[in-house]
Amino acid sequence: MDLKKLASTLIPDNDLLPLEEYEKMYPERQLNKGAEVTRLAPSPTGFIHLGNLYSALADERIAHTTDGIFYLRIEDTDLKRKVDGAVESVIRSLNYFGLNFDEGAEIDSPLNNYGPYYQRQRASIYRAYVKDLIERGLAYPCFCTEDELNAVRAEQTERKEITGYYGKYAKCRNLSEQEIYDNLAQGKPFVIRLKSQGSTENKITFKDRIKGDITVTENDQDVVILKSDGIPTYHFAHAIDDHFMHTTLVIRGEEWLSSLPIHLELFKVLGFKLPSYGHTCSLMKVDNGVKRKLSKRKDPELSLDYYRQAGYYPKAVVKYLMTILNSNFEEWERKNPTADYRDFKFSIDKMGKSGALFDIDKLNDVSKAELATLSEDETYAFLKGWVDEFGTEQDKAHFADADYIKKIIILICGIGGKKRRKDIVRAETGVRLFDYFFDDVFNPEYAFRFEKGDVTAVLSKFAAVYDENDDNNAWFAKVKAVAAEVGFAAEMSEYKQNPEAFKGSVADVAEILRIAVTGMPNSPDLCTVMRILGKDRTLARLNAAIQA
Ligand code: GLU
Repeated sequence: MDLKKLASTLIPDNDLLPLEEYEKMYPERQLNKGAEVTRLAPSPTGFIHLGNLYSALADERIAHTTDGIFYLRIEDTDLKRKVDGAVESVIRSLNYFGLNFDEGAEIDSPLNNYGPYYQRQRASIYRAYVKDLIERGLAYPCFCTEDELNAVRAEQTERKEITGYYGKYAKCRNLSEQEIYDNLAQGKPFVIRLKSQGSTENKITFKDRIKGDITVTENDQDVVILKSDGIPTYHFAHAIDDHFMHTTLVIRGEEWLSSLPIHLELFKVLGFKLPSYGHTCSLMKVDNGVKRKLSKRKDPELSLDYYRQAGYYPKAVVKYLMTILNSNFEEWERKNPTADYRDFKFSIDKMGKSGALFDIDKLNDVSKAELATLSEDETYAFLKGWVDEFGTEQDKAHFADADYIKKIIILICGIGGKKRRKDIVRAETGVRLFDYFFDDVFNPEYAFRFEKGDVTAVLSKFAAVYDENDDNNAWFAKVKAVAAEVGFAAEMSEYKQNPEAFKGSVADVAEILRIAVTGMPNSPDLCTVMRILGKDRTLARLNAAIQA
């Protein structure tokens, strides 16, 4: 068969360069020894999830701790999956979590020498290499229809055989020259398949950078490399792109492990050096006592938008992922509590080989600890950012008063106190802790635990003596005095010795005041709450509770 003629008939493009030209166009990167080139290669579906962030963080850390490159390539070979604005949304999401690309699609960078970074714009490179494979007898056209392929699959399933296009099932593998040209003359659509040289009799042991030694069976499937629209499949584009973009380490989900034999064969027939691979384990959660994979359908926390909407502090999410990615990160953090997580020596060898457990309670702990390291200005900026995007109109109006909100932040977070309070876990719930400071949303249900007469006596006597200039000691002395006057123990010790002698203790008196002023039995320091509210509003609340 005249393979050269066949290749030119199937790939008639006249803009293809000799293959050496492509090698010259994308020369080796000039990087230090040991520098890793990693990439995030999403399809532009607009859905970027926690698993992507998890892998991307490993990519980014490995690239940036080795003085390497982390780039963004858009795998848009499947047009059906394309969503407008998806690329910007990937970049925005990753930036939000503090991950930045050095080069790639839509990245403004002087390093963009290995593009285009959209696969659809690289069609000629792929087609040049497909043409070469056809010329070398390593690829061929396949005219099988969808119905024919389905029938073969059904037959294979029925016989309990491996499904796919291989061996005796690879019908078009042995078409004669005449048959091929007849099909073409009839205008039949075709794909190009790899003429696999492999055999399932052979095993290959392969070193995965995360999972260690893995033994796989050699590929014998004549996989499609170029689809009928002239665009390559993921497999083929992966080999070409990671070769020409000089990726040294491909980090991707373990769901790709089953395709690895195909990739090993493609790199071999293309004559390309294989990059290293690291297959990350899937994120799991414990659901009703059973460990299972996080699922797009069942788990809103898989979507990255969830973390923005719920108001997680982005760095906390990243730090939490670091604890899952590298088992020694937590210990390092304990020893270096004020260091930036980027100073940690990230190591691919410390990545888990199987099921990474995602635990939202642990994330909450990390998040509140992280928020407890911020100043009032930083806390304000973070909460205000969330309010502007997701808050109610009332939240927006409240947070417009920066001075007032910062006073509340200092109190709620215990800034300047002996120990920081960790009441704010994330913005969505944290913002609600500010509500009782605003009359337009303060709508208490007074759950007093004492008789109305005693409650009224406490509230009115305290209202009569309240002075906003009192310091905490003077304020508390007044609470004690009121307690004594209305038959409550002024000292806890007195009360403990003889509880029957009193209606309650000074703590109960403080609770009555607290419920009247904040609507809740628990709150941060009440004296400060009253001072922030100011005398008029404090008295108005005491009176409103008396009248309720
Ligand atoms: N486009 C593939 C995906 O969406 C990328 C896999 C890889 O990183 O090679 O998952």
